[in-house]
Amino acid sequence: MAGTICLTFHFDAVSLYPGMFGVTSPSTASRGEFGARVGVPRILDLLRREDIPATFFVPGLTVDTFPEVCKAIRDQGHEFAHHGYRHVSPVPMTEQEEREELLRGIDAMERHLDGYRPYGYCSPASDLSPNSIRLLREEGFVYDATMCANDFSPYWCREGDKLGTDGSITFGQTVPLVSLPFSWTLDDFPQMELVLSSSLTLEGNRDPKVCERMWLEDMDFMSKEVPDGVFVMCFHPQVIGRGARIRVVENMIRKGRELGFEFTTCLDAAQQWKAANPFPEA
Ligand SMILES: [Zn+2]
Repeated sequence: MAGTICLTFHFDAVSLYPGMFGVTSPSTASRGEFGARVGVPRILDLLRREDIPATFFVPGLTVDTFPEVCKAIRDQGHEFAHHGYRHVSPVPMTEQEEREELLRGIDAMERHLDGYRPYGYCSPASDLSPNSIRLLREEGFVYDATMCANDFSPYWCREGDKLGTDGSITFGQTVPLVSLPFSWTLDDFPQMELVLSSSLTLEGNRDPKVCERMWLEDMDFMSKEVPDGVFVMCFHPQVIGRGARIRVVENMIRKGRELGFEFTTCLDAAQQWKAANPFPEA
């Protein structure tokens, strides 16, 4: 399998601010609105010109708030993947609350996108609860893109890990759900976005060229050290779609092509990896 690049866009839009940061002011919400009204159209235009498929991780609340923007993404043939409903972490939820949140997100896509069914998941806040993997399997998901135990090689998820506050660590059982590696280092939000909230402060506003160099170096590393790897890049339309920052995506596409990588959706990358690495049955 040739090396693969998955361009992913976390289309959080407005949901991010009340959901993650507890901020509800109209001016903060407008930053998410920018992602829907300007960022996504700009990204779709670029992907169309470059003829590249991408994966959009979309909270159900974004689908309910901006259905027309979501239909435009769907009409261009990109993958929709699940990113919660209200963009809140499942970690403090009960199992039943988490299940309802998962079903609500699926329902929003089915209602607005002619029965579209997501098969991929990335948790809001990139944090899974002890129940998440089991719930994803119960709902027929193919992959999760939240875990960080590898950088460029997919692997099988585990269910039932137990970490005690007394220092005990027990690893659970490997299960047939593909893990596409996530990394905060390949995420534009903590690098570039200013956040001032009672729960989190991010300095952001980093020079896009600094980020671009960092990400191109990782791409170069993968081409030499993990040539059949999967490079999952996480962008946010409200971050990377603003002004000259979009050129970072253009330059990454150019470099990826020079290095001979294929651009696919996450679902295609997960299915290809699965076909080449059958789950070891006991
Ligand atoms: Zn998100």
